[in-house]
Amino acid sequence: MNRVAICPGSFDPITNGHLDIITRGSKIFDEVIVAVFNNQSKEPLFTVDERIELIEQVTNHLPNVVADSNDGLLVDYAKEKGVDVILRGLRAVSDFEYEMQITSMNRKLNPEIETFFMMTNNQYSFLSSSIVKEAAKYHSSVADLVPKEVEEALTQKYAENSFKTL
Ligand code: ADP
Repeated sequence: MNRVAICPGSFDPITNGHLDIITRGSKIFDEVIVAVFNNQSKEPLFTVDERIELIEQVTNHLPNVVADSNDGLLVDYAKEKGVDVILRGLRAVSDFEYEMQITSMNRKLNPEIETFFMMTNNQYSFLSSSIVKEAAKYHSSVADLVPKEVEEALTQKYAENSFKTL
């Protein structure tokens, strides 16, 4: 049986924490689809296409990982792809309540879909895209937190943005 999982998220941008979950997931599943969803409650820094491109660059060495995007409901996307597993990462206890709400909702919408959680590596427990953006915005090094390609994209993005506000 071909076991495929969808790893959904905002990935604005992808961090070493996301990459850790994706890499470990790619050893368990035959294929992992990293799906960029635009979270309406968050103002994104990167466009969906830019986020996909970064995901593709940093997962290039993982042949069974693909990047995609969708702007609908996750359960509808999963059905459309014929996938019945959602892969999510869990950091601190604070993630738990949010993840439980989403999982319960998704289960209500489609009981066939199973959500699979992986605990983060301790070193990434407090790592989020928001923290990375905050640090990069004020020119702090994010070298340990994101892949090199993402660090470069952040530097470029904040240089462009500061130029725009001049
Ligand atoms: P969302 O906006 O849906 O929370 P994110 O891009 O923030 O999307 O996260 C996508 C997934 O990656 C979520 O399951 C989240 O818990 C997980 N994740 C984010 N950061 C980390 C990390 N540092 N370690 C492990 N999992 C993480």
